[in-house]
Amino acid sequence: MQKAQNYQNDIEGFDVFGLDPVIMKGIMHARYDTPTPVQKEVIPLAMKGADLIGTAQTGTGKTAAFVLPILNRLIKEEKHLIRALIVTPTRELAAQIDDNIRTLGRGTGIRSVTLYGGVSDLPQITALEQGVDIVVACPGRFIDLVYKGYVNTDNVGILVLDEADRMLDMGFLPDIKRILQFLPENRQSMLFSATFPPEIEALARRSLRDPKRVAIGLSKPANTVAHALFPVEQHLKWKLLLEILKTTDTDSVLVFTRTKFRADSVMKKIKHAGYKVTSLHSNRSQAQRQASLKGFKSGAYQIMVATDIAARGLDIDDISHVINYDMPATPDDYIHRIGRTGRAERTGDAFTLMTSEDDQIVKRLEKIMMTKIERRYLENFDYNASKPENTGTNASAGKHFNPNAGKKDRRPVKSTGNSRRGSRPRYSGLNPTG
Ligand code: AMP
Repeated sequence: MQKAQNYQNDIEGFDVFGLDPVIMKGIMHARYDTPTPVQKEVIPLAMKGADLIGTAQTGTGKTAAFVLPILNRLIKEEKHLIRALIVTPTRELAAQIDDNIRTLGRGTGIRSVTLYGGVSDLPQITALEQGVDIVVACPGRFIDLVYKGYVNTDNVGILVLDEADRMLDMGFLPDIKRILQFLPENRQSMLFSATFPPEIEALARRSLRDPKRVAIGLSKPANTVAHALFPVEQHLKWKLLLEILKTTDTDSVLVFTRTKFRADSVMKKIKHAGYKVTSLHSNRSQAQRQASLKGFKSGAYQIMVATDIAARGLDIDDISHVINYDMPATPDDYIHRIGRTGRAERTGDAFTLMTSEDDQIVKRLEKIMMTKIERRYLENFDYNASKPENTGTNASAGKHFNPNAGKKDRRPVKSTGNSRRGSRPRYSGLNPTG
């Protein structure tokens, strides 16, 4: 007890919540010093058992905000019955939440399992049969295993719907409604979403009781990220990307494209240029996706090219640059993409290649961010290079774009000096590695 007390004193800020000493140890193990704003808001409410709706962008510490109260409640109850269910849109997010549970829940004896498709269900069934306390699941596999009789939902006392708007975008709403039918009425429910279209509001009404609302950083990008737009014609995007990679100091770079096809084609070009690069999108097998993520996290790959869905909510340390090769479809997608850098109080850069077609979305973004985003131009880059013959595949073919319009800031790209990163190799000007 005395020892646990000391831990509590060491962790400035977290002691106000009255969390179990074993969980305080978990927080120390995770090396969290002070609660983030979302944790300050969510943890006390969740510990009281309140239903809640959270608008928190990724990278704010949202996961621990719901995981800590869950652990604190489950530690006091009978073990190895499924008492908490966390539903999330992607496998990577599920794995990430599970990692958080294991780190923060070290020493609690609480067991968790991830249930998602694309991999064999046998290890998942084995874990369920051995008894687990928390299930972190993607909707399809969860429903499948409920129907097969491997998941007993009778004791679920806490439900978390994470990234609810993305689940809606991915067509999971009918599955969520079905999952709600499996669960006991008497439960605590928490719903997290970056945006609240009418369908999400309706889902909240259906699944929550008198919810408290917590809005942190309401649909605004993290303020630890520096943003820059790189105006360019569509046919020069690839050359510009290569030039950016050559002239920028980076640790690791996540490049987003609009489609899986483009992700693969950009990845191949980057590879051909000599960089260590991988890709992440839903056409790749689960094993390939895991290998890509692992390689990118360890620094074996300097660059990862991804689509929105695959990269949603990923928690990867030390991404110094997010580069939007294609402008995201909505400001929310922009926020989620760039949430991959500048995580948890770190700084990062978000670069976006912008064509004349992106004017409207840029205006909307600037309105949300309440600032004009800097336009950058690379010195020694030929913005007027003509389009090669027979490459009429891009969407802006035929549209004229004047790269000199509004061109005031003509300085070479320099990183914002993210020298805080130590664990991964650092690449100056991302030299190809042959
Ligand atoms: P999340 O928004 O939940 O994906 O969290 C983003 C990152 O912040 C993760 O790497 C967390 O482990 C980390 N994190 C969460 N809470 C804290 C905290 N209080 N102090 C430092 N890092 C944190």
